[in-house]
Amino acid sequence: MKITFLGTGTSTGIPTIGVNRESCLSDDPKDNRLRSSILIECDNKKFVVDCGPDFRQQMLRTKTTRVDAILFTHEHADHTAGLDDVRPISFKHGKIPIYAHTRVVKNLKKRFDYLFDKKNDYPGSPHVYPIIIENKKFNIEEIEILPITYMHHKLQVFGFRIKNFAYVTDLKMITKEELNKLKNLDVLILNSLRHNEHYSHINLTQAIDHIEELKPKKAFLTHIAPDMGLHSETEKILPKSVFLAFDGLEIIVDD
Ligand SMILES: [Zn+2]
Ligand SMILES: [Zn+2]
Repeated sequence: MKITFLGTGTSTGIPTIGVNRESCLSDDPKDNRLRSSILIECDNKKFVVDCGPDFRQQMLRTKTTRVDAILFTHEHADHTAGLDDVRPISFKHGKIPIYAHTRVVKNLKKRFDYLFDKKNDYPGSPHVYPIIIENKKFNIEEIEILPITYMHHKLQVFGFRIKNFAYVTDLKMITKEELNKLKNLDVLILNSLRHNEHYSHINLTQAIDHIEELKPKKAFLTHIAPDMGLHSETEKILPKSVFLAFDGLEIIVDD
């Protein structure tokens, strides 16, 4: 299984408009972060987790021309706003299934009504169809996916585990029971917004606490805000086997 970080930034991306922090002014390409999303390549299938406002650019720069499914963590714009840009992919390869919580599908139907309007089907619309997921295992063809549910301030969010790999973003509060689903991982990707406390995201200390409890072989931090500081500086203070992700980073997870 191959994972590519399509974006590793928080909702505003880095640089952020009008923000003059070191990370926003940095020449290091690792400090340039599009909105958070990953590409998963597994058993000859390609999925993306989330489809934010930078989706088009993310597909172009990774030369990804096909997406077999989209999994949504939650409905926030930084995770969904690029949905219209799946058009060229669906024109070429057919309808794309969208896996999401029923609440997220309802939200997408409101915001992208024309995508779901079967009566006035406009041929230029992207071709997508929803598949509702709940907090139980589901399959995309023969690939088994285990959702993990947790809270992001007052909003429920899904993370996803495939084999010994898991992607968890926009986490703030998680129950013990759900956290236990993240044991025995080779790779855990976890959000870590910044150093200071935040009402809807765990910070660096809280992310490291979870990692120390779960003990994945490797952990990568994502959904980074400008006030985390420079990539090169933050990497120095991380425990062994915990890494700050960056856009374009590819990792291989053994099956
Ligand atoms: Zn987010
Ligand atoms: Zn969010």
